[in-house]
Amino acid sequence: MFQDLDIRYDNAWRRAEPSADSVALIRREDGILAELTDGRLAFPRFGQLSPAARGLEWRYAFTLGEETYFLAQWEEGTGPETADRLPDAPHPAQCAHRGSFPQGGRLWWVQSKEYRNLGPKDAVFAAAVSESLHRWYGATRFCGRCGKPMTDSDTERARVCPDCGLTVYPKICPAVIVAVTHGDRLLLTKYQGRAFKRYALVAGFAEIGESIEDTVRREVLEETGLRVKNLRYYKSQPWVFTDSLLFGFRCELEGSDEITIQQSELSEAGWYRREEIPGDYSGISLTGEMIERFKNGMDD
Ligand SMILES: [Zn+2]
Repeated sequence: MFQDLDIRYDNAWRRAEPSADSVALIRREDGILAELTDGRLAFPRFGQLSPAARGLEWRYAFTLGEETYFLAQWEEGTGPETADRLPDAPHPAQCAHRGSFPQGGRLWWVQSKEYRNLGPKDAVFAAAVSESLHRWYGATRFCGRCGKPMTDSDTERARVCPDCGLTVYPKICPAVIVAVTHGDRLLLTKYQGRAFKRYALVAGFAEIGESIEDTVRREVLEETGLRVKNLRYYKSQPWVFTDSLLFGFRCELEGSDEITIQQSELSEAGWYRREEIPGDYSGISLTGEMIERFKNGMDD
């Protein structure tokens, strides 16, 4: 999966200023500034940026291996004086329309749907994590309680309201991915009304006050009308594209195998034998990995 890196990811907060060698992650609403060479994503170094771009507000983001990454962002509606400080780069749509990515040597605003299947893994991971941080910093510009501008904490990764004291930490939403089996059959679903058209597993967010195991039982029941038993935790995946932390569970059908689809969530749900499961799953998602494991008989 995309977060399985060969190098160390250290996201402990620290007070730091970018140096010339620091990796520069510049984001705006519709993308991250990056070079694209032969399907590989690369970010500029802080020292390569124009003086104007270096003048953006920079925050320490994380360290990958020996490289330190810093994040700067531009928010819609903060005024043309800020927009003018951004490096000159085409909009991502301009490269998407070409049908293939351009050669290196220039910077593009690249969206997650364009970079998530590129390489190398550490760059894709950095871009995805920065997207989540960017969203969080952008959503905490003002205090949700009293409306005053918020500032960064001096001691941890948090946003603080100087007026009323509200402290807000990065938002991570727990969610489940559930592989329900019945003998040699796996329950596969298709989402209703989404761009993602391939088969998926039952999935959903935890509600306030419920355990993650209860989330598994509730989501399966809501989406398919089925009951499950023998829940076994498989592994987790930080799905930073939607600020989620996914908990993969396997479980077995209990009782009737008759499916009642929740029409608002799913367009399709059914039982599939190993040999009937299509094999085309990208290597980045926990859903894909769990489906492949079952298909290949590795689910025990
Ligand atoms: Zn406040």
